[in-house]
Amino acid sequence: MNLDWNEIFIGDLNFSFALEIVIRTLIMFSMVLLILRLSGKKGVRQLSLFEVAIIIALGSAAGDPMFSKEAPIVPSVIVFAAIILLYRVITYFAIKSEKFENIIEGEPIYVIEDGEFVMGIRKDHTFAKDEFFSEMRQESIEHIGQVKTAILETTGKISFYYFTDDEVKYGLPVLPKPYQKKSENVSDEDIYACTYCGHVKKLVPGNHQCTRCDQSEWVRAINTVRLT
Ligand SMILES: [Zn+2]
Repeated sequence: MNLDWNEIFIGDLNFSFALEIVIRTLIMFSMVLLILRLSGKKGVRQLSLFEVAIIIALGSAAGDPMFSKEAPIVPSVIVFAAIILLYRVITYFAIKSEKFENIIEGEPIYVIEDGEFVMGIRKDHTFAKDEFFSEMRQESIEHIGQVKTAILETTGKISFYYFTDDEVKYGLPVLPKPYQKKSENVSDEDIYACTYCGHVKKLVPGNHQCTRCDQSEWVRAINTVRLT
């Protein structure tokens, strides 16, 4: 294979075009910034899917004119204007209609209720357990028996509501070390949590099927209180 390295790295580039790229980039970058300011959005810490789509559309409209001789800037400006108009129109209708908002942004989902996973949530492909456990650890949650309610927000962030110390139940541990001790074979009598749905049960040695979700993998439950 004969690779043309000059074409891969340099192409038609010369000094005057390099200078042009710098100017084009300054213009496009300033425009993206301006458009994002006009959108009324305060920050980007948590973006909904709809907002991510807007950002991607803006990004791809802004990218080409930065470095492509064939892409003038004004068509990109029209794209920007169209995107921001669309953003405004959709936001307007989302404020008017809750139903429309749910279609565009998605709905908050109950993930934990009363210290157990909400049934069906684990089957939902949008729910990644590893990620969720990681989120819980970042909130210093040791097991889900500490959590009264958890809600997955449309931004992907999770809101947690806790049991008070004397309400804390036995629950499925989310720390990697105790969780790794999960097994289908219960070795001694103790309180266990179903690794799938978080259902807690006192078990005797042997194999057991979860009465709530029909899975049969268990891990020793804990009931430590939340350290704050
Ligand atoms: Zn279960």
